[in-house]
Amino acid sequence: MDISVIIPLYNEAESLPELYAWITRVMAEHGYSYEIIFVNDGSTDDSWNVIEGIAAKDGQVHGIKFRRNYGKSPALHCGFAAAQGDVVITMDADLQDSPDEIPELYRMITEEHYDLVSGYKQKRYDPLSKTLPTKLFNATARRVSGIRNLHDFNCGLKAYRRDVVKNIEVFGEMHRYIPYLAKSAGFDRIGEKVVHHQARKFGNTKFGGLNRFVNGYLDLLTLWFLNSFGLKPMHVFGFLGSLMFAFGFIACAVVGGIKLVHICEGTPAPLVTSSPYFYIALTMMILGTQLFVAGFLGELVSRNAQERNNYQIEKTI
Ligand code: UDP
Ligand code: MG
Repeated sequence: MDISVIIPLYNEAESLPELYAWITRVMAEHGYSYEIIFVNDGSTDDSWNVIEGIAAKDGQVHGIKFRRNYGKSPALHCGFAAAQGDVVITMDADLQDSPDEIPELYRMITEEHYDLVSGYKQKRYDPLSKTLPTKLFNATARRVSGIRNLHDFNCGLKAYRRDVVKNIEVFGEMHRYIPYLAKSAGFDRIGEKVVHHQARKFGNTKFGGLNRFVNGYLDLLTLWFLNSFGLKPMHVFGFLGSLMFAFGFIACAVVGGIKLVHICEGTPAPLVTSSPYFYIALTMMILGTQLFVAGFLGELVSRNAQERNNYQIEKTI
């Protein structure tokens, strides 16, 4: 099978028939063999009935129905697990992404040998409250992930070589960072294609509000940490802990030294608690020990984690 199209959706009943018809038209024009997988993320509207209606008439259409709303990442995760096509394409259900982009995305994966091609909504039809923070978000993500050529990490329209989706795990709200996940798994041919973007026709955005940014940045921090130190927490905590402890020790020596000097000179020594070094020594040593213990516990946890020895093996013969 050439292409699997995966569409996560939450309350998008009005858009589905048009989206389905459009995708089918594009696929027929190019003669691809394909499947469409609708992942209904706990919609409370008529979406599932619409999907059932479409699937009853067209064997190339499949549906996955969540019992409740889990989020876009879990929806993508289950879609990825079910996908059978050589190239997997994800797109939003709200008709903001155009199925006309599919042939070119497919060509970039199969002929230009990209692992992942992300859409880039150069001209966006979203309110400023959405586009401005997105710019900032993308700049940070580019820096942290080291994927310098991507302008739009969170574009819903993306194409993947099948290996990529079978070897990454999208969880929580990590759909924003799929290129980063792919890169961490060793898929580094990541490209970008400028895509058309349209204003939402029906319904409202499901990702509004400030929450999105706070969570987005925390997720990025988690990924960065997992990626750099996830399997060796002692290397970061142990280092910091030892460093702090060393400073604490020096401060302690200073306090002791001052006391000694006074005793040798026979002058009355001040109380250790009147020296700032005393407090520095105290905090540094306590913090140092705690960091060290945190690293040690992290090490124990990661040694017991199920994934400790899940390495990406591309091929075996
Ligand atoms: N979506 C989903 N589960 C959710 C929220 C959104 O499957 O909990 C889907 C939604 O139906 C749409 C896509 O994710 O197909 C992108 O959502 P939306 O268009 O609201 O995001 P925006 O384009 O505003 O960033
Ligand atoms: Mg949208």
